[in-house]
Amino acid sequence: MNKNQLQQHDRDHLLHPFTDFHDLGKQGTRVITSAEGPYITDIDGHTMLDGMSGLWCCNLGYSRREISEAIYEQLNKLPFYNSFFQCTTVPSIELADLLSEVTPAGMNNVFFTGSGSEANDTNLRIIRRYWDLKDQPQKRIVISRQNAYHGSTIGGASLGGMSGMHKQFQALDYIEHIQQPYWFGEGGDMSPEEFGVYAARCLDEKIQELGPEKVAAFIAEPIQGAGGVIIPPETYWPEVKKVLDQYDILLVMDEVIFGFGRTGEWFGADYYGMKPDLMTFAKAVTNGYFPLGGTMVSDRVAEVIKAKGGEFTHGYTYSAHPAACMAGIVTLNILRNEKIIENVRDVTGPYLAKRWAELSDHPIVGEARTLGLVGALELVKDKGSRARFDDDCTAGAVCRDMSIKNGLVMRATGDTMIIAPPLILDTAHIDELVDKAHRALDETAKAMA
Ligand SMILES: *Cc1c(COP(=O)(O)O)cnc(C)c1O
Repeated sequence: MNKNQLQQHDRDHLLHPFTDFHDLGKQGTRVITSAEGPYITDIDGHTMLDGMSGLWCCNLGYSRREISEAIYEQLNKLPFYNSFFQCTTVPSIELADLLSEVTPAGMNNVFFTGSGSEANDTNLRIIRRYWDLKDQPQKRIVISRQNAYHGSTIGGASLGGMSGMHKQFQALDYIEHIQQPYWFGEGGDMSPEEFGVYAARCLDEKIQELGPEKVAAFIAEPIQGAGGVIIPPETYWPEVKKVLDQYDILLVMDEVIFGFGRTGEWFGADYYGMKPDLMTFAKAVTNGYFPLGGTMVSDRVAEVIKAKGGEFTHGYTYSAHPAACMAGIVTLNILRNEKIIENVRDVTGPYLAKRWAELSDHPIVGEARTLGLVGALELVKDKGSRARFDDDCTAGAVCRDMSIKNGLVMRATGDTMIIAPPLILDTAHIDELVDKAHRALDETAKAMA
């Protein structure tokens, strides 16, 4: 099939995730056909630096044959076996060992799933099981944050705090949402430091309002990813820690994006010095080569759910799929052996911070922020008042299209441009990324004038 035929068949038969079907029908999809290193190429032969690592997952880029070969070998040896009914497979044991080594101290058990959404559903099941076994069945409520993203199953989307999603399904009734630590968008006249403390105190207020004896857990991404790369003010996590220390409430950190090196530490929890009870992972654990997710379970929780008898009536057919686990083993070994995360911390993270900050001088940029290898640009009409161009977020969509045309994949979340490039970028790639982003900003300014 040629490009037009592919687009027609796509329109006729494929319902895409998070897509306006009507718009898609008009414009036609971009058909991505190949990839190499940190670059992707479409069917027209247009090559782009992938500033989003696929969908926050291909952190080692697209050319790691060790991963695909390990998957292939595993598929030939033992393509599938489940881990139900007292069975197990060698790759699942090896990956569980490795994960226990690289995750924060005190996290030594894993429950495997097929995705991040499933893992957050698993978290809901583990949280309830834990409090039931602790004879505190009244602890049922989970607190999350507005504009959080925790996946797209009913459980994941209920935990998430995206209003557009909540309009299209009925959320679970035991999940509450509080203020997000989004200073640029919602900080008003407060300084970032004041606002960070304020947003953390909102957790305390909510716990007191609900009654601490009814609150089971608090879930949060270390940094909100899909919400717009919202890096909380430095005061936020220390204050959250103080709040949680006062109460007997589980902390779930959703590390689906920030796990495996994006901050320059292995996990966001390491970066912020937090001690989660449960930690969701997915995406980059296999470098995107095979679907796999899971939740890391702290010793505190694992001891309770392992010690008392009775079956945990939960699991997925593809929990601990052997080929997925092989992909995870090879990915983690590459991260370790090639010191990729140390390089983000010491070299490319600081370099991106320096170069990206230059974009804050651009007339339509209200804020340019980075941490490790993520970044965001807030597009504004007026820098002083942080006023946006319009209510439809036209500027974000224009900037994304200009960027793609210039050979850089940036994503738009409203009028916030975001990047999360592969962790293998070198400084020359970062120069290319920033220069292309700059050009996209110039063209956006022109188009919006
Ligand atoms: C992507 C994402 C999820 C959902 O993962 P899926 O594999 O798409 O189900 C959950 N939490 C966060 C923070 C994510 O970014």
